[in-house]
Amino acid sequence: MKKIISFILILIVLLIGCSNKEKDNNNIQYSKTEEIIGTVISGTIYGENSKEALCEAFERAEYIEKIMSVKIQDSEISNLNNTAFNNEVKVSNELFYVLEKAMYYSKLTEGAFDFTIGGLIDLWAIGTENAKVPKHEEIINLLELDNYKNIQINSENKTVKFLKDTVKIDLGAIAKGYVADEMKKVICEKYNIHSGILNLGGNVIAIGKKNNNSLWKVGICNPINNSYVIATLESSDETVVTSGNYERYFIENGMKYHHILDPNTGYPANSGLISTTIVTESSIDADALSTATYVLGLDKSKELVESIDNVEGVFITEDMVIDMTSGINNRIKVIQNDT
Ligand code: FAD
Ligand code: MG
Repeated sequence: MKKIISFILILIVLLIGCSNKEKDNNNIQYSKTEEIIGTVISGTIYGENSKEALCEAFERAEYIEKIMSVKIQDSEISNLNNTAFNNEVKVSNELFYVLEKAMYYSKLTEGAFDFTIGGLIDLWAIGTENAKVPKHEEIINLLELDNYKNIQINSENKTVKFLKDTVKIDLGAIAKGYVADEMKKVICEKYNIHSGILNLGGNVIAIGKKNNNSLWKVGICNPINNSYVIATLESSDETVVTSGNYERYFIENGMKYHHILDPNTGYPANSGLISTTIVTESSIDADALSTATYVLGLDKSKELVESIDNVEGVFITEDMVIDMTSGINNRIKVIQNDT
């Protein structure tokens, strides 16, 4: 968590350069930071009723956590995981929306992103104090069982059914993006505020421009020393989402094991990429794609991202080469630092 907090702080300082206080007299600017969904969420927004808007956006994040967190025993997703084997379970609109997106990206990436590997995620337990390298046989057993093809989603009835009893959904790679989009919706649509910045542990949403009418500057962390930013881009009305190997990991016998798993092997993805950033309009899409591209590696990721309209990617290899899709080339400013 210390690492996450320092990462957030860097971004906040870089992006906003503002204090964490409401302006004294007119409620024009408001900032807030809270830990929700296991990550630090920060926001600063500008406009009338900014305090009410941002507080309500945070309440929305808490509400979604109660639906989609597998860490909460009686969340809707936990209930689904416990009851959906051989049984069509009706789910809420919110959960259904995210599950449909998750299925879409699982298919699109042919399982590089797979929202049904909850069993594997629990087995590795990366990001918890129980993290360990599992026995190879345990991994292989789960690989044979857990797969998005073992889930049926019925769009008409909004029901979900598991075809194998071992399937466990985990939305850790996609629901943070949904939370970000929903927070933005509260701010922009309900409160009609169009200037601000949200950062959900690496999922940044730039809303409009700064209050001095300049663009937001978003930093991409240096994956081998995330106290530094390695590149920046100026941004407005879009989301910038990064997946990396530097926040959630553990070291055993000198080996680093990070939290993005390759559903094909059951081990932490080893595609040659150590940081993937997706820039697009919607954070749920960017979240799924940042995880998927991390698993797919540079060539397949560039091809995939180039094939999707209005989506761009910035990829950092283990040799610290920064590569990107054609549409973002002229927007990225690489920063040289001695790391
Ligand atoms: P991303 O790349 O976006 O996601 C990686 C995560 O997705 C992994 O940690 C794993 O969970 C999963 N994953 C790994 N490989 C794949 C793959 N190939 N395909 C699909 N999924 C994969 N964390 C806590 O520590 N405590 C909490 O209480 C907690 N609650 C949460 C509640 C919700 C609703 C959500 C959405 C997340 C929660 N998290 C919690 C997790 C945390 O917020 C982030 O999801 C996590 O830090 C990873 O985010 P990321 O952006 O770094 O990585
Ligand atoms: Mg993701």
